[in-house]
Amino acid sequence: MVPPVPSAATPTLGALGATGPEGGPTASGRPYESEVDASSPNRNLAPISTSLDSQDRLMVGGCLLSDLARDYGTPLYVLDEATLRGACRAYRQALEESYGGPCLALYASKANSSLAITALVASEGLGLDAVSAGELLTALQGGMPPDRIVLHGNNKSRQELELALSHGVTVVVDNWLDLELLSAIAPAHPGPVRLMLRFTPGIECHTHEYIRTGHLDSKFGFDPDQLESVLRHLAGCSWAWLDGLHAHIGSQIFELQPHRDLAGVLADALALARSLGHPCSDLNVGGGLGIRYVSSDDPPSIQQWVAAVATAVTSACAERGLALPRLLCEPGRSLVATAGVTVYSVGSRKTIPDLRTYVAIDGGMSDNPRPITYQSRYTAVLADRPTAPATQTITLAGKHCESGDVLLSGLALPETTTGDVVAVFATGAYNASMGSNYNRIPRPATVLVHGGMADVVQKREEPVDLLRYDVLPHRLSRLN
Ligand SMILES: *Cc1c(COP(=O)(O)O)cnc(C)c1O
Repeated sequence: MVPPVPSAATPTLGALGATGPEGGPTASGRPYESEVDASSPNRNLAPISTSLDSQDRLMVGGCLLSDLARDYGTPLYVLDEATLRGACRAYRQALEESYGGPCLALYASKANSSLAITALVASEGLGLDAVSAGELLTALQGGMPPDRIVLHGNNKSRQELELALSHGVTVVVDNWLDLELLSAIAPAHPGPVRLMLRFTPGIECHTHEYIRTGHLDSKFGFDPDQLESVLRHLAGCSWAWLDGLHAHIGSQIFELQPHRDLAGVLADALALARSLGHPCSDLNVGGGLGIRYVSSDDPPSIQQWVAAVATAVTSACAERGLALPRLLCEPGRSLVATAGVTVYSVGSRKTIPDLRTYVAIDGGMSDNPRPITYQSRYTAVLADRPTAPATQTITLAGKHCESGDVLLSGLALPETTTGDVVAVFATGAYNASMGSNYNRIPRPATVLVHGGMADVVQKREEPVDLLRYDVLPHRLSRLN
């Protein structure tokens, strides 16, 4: 089993924990009353190191959230090292325990890409998937060994492919243009180019339409009808070495069956590839495991998901008489989301009698575009009074010029005043990485917390930073 991860949790605080369908801890609607499932961070609402101090104020990683807000300003992304490491270990150990062959979890860095996260994930023995030159550079400079990196993308530029090849990074071929560009640049690089082949597996799953990628109408990967011709074409490319096959079916998935079905589809493709002479040692099943954003969410644990995938791949290969491939998976959200908490300060308030009360915070859709993009739901509390009884139901609004810039509606809170610190949980994935400068609002800082210490791992932008790439032509300037 997964060993205990260092945690600052006190016995009085279950840290927004998990419900347990199999006799595990049970969550109430009041997050701080439930138990922590440290073995699978994605099943908790809050970081696994969440605790209360003697005055019932929220701490993460041994740091008081309101102190962090005061010292580093708001909005602030707080990232809990213990939760991120715990999730990495959970994937690694579950793979080693439930799969009979070699295995590797790759962090899908689009979920949250930074030097510090790269370094942490690399130190836990994981690999990484990158989708752009920016993510690839971050991975390389963050210390991820290039032989543990894969480059994805449905429209890679020649420069991105050259960067990958010059570092010996495996390229996941998505389409014919990738192959055309690669064959043109391959001769300039020593040795065969390591490739994986991505195809659309045609598997439906119940998640938001924008984040489903596996059904047939998808912009990602080769259509399955094309698979045989690509494999035949590749067999004639002396510059290419096909490491394996890849498919990804979507994100925030709570069912296990789609990934079980995927194993069969991938194994069929593997049989075909090997019959055409490709060694194809790797099968990459993508990512997609969901996390708990609100207490009613009940995702499988990392262990359950990995066991389902490993068992399905093992039996699909056995049925087809295939030697076990190396099993790769690419979790993004379930590795980092729960490690993140965003801390805001309360500002203005507007009450519309008999209708609604808006409480505005100093961030919004620029630091968390998920609610306006996917109607995503979140859980929030007052950082210094998480256990105080609720006396009002409010709409937590952002500060952007969009009526839809609302982080949470129907939020029950104690009385709030200007300056109160609000903590929004499970913001570690697809928040910072999807953020923007809409309304020319600078991006928040990120602090990594561990054992009572906080390290700034991404500096706060200042308004003047946003002018860095503006150019005012001389003829328009009234200053000259
Ligand atoms: C987004 C993505 C992932 C990660 O998905 P999560 O749902 O965050 O686990 C993995 N692989 C590919 C190819 C992706 O596009």
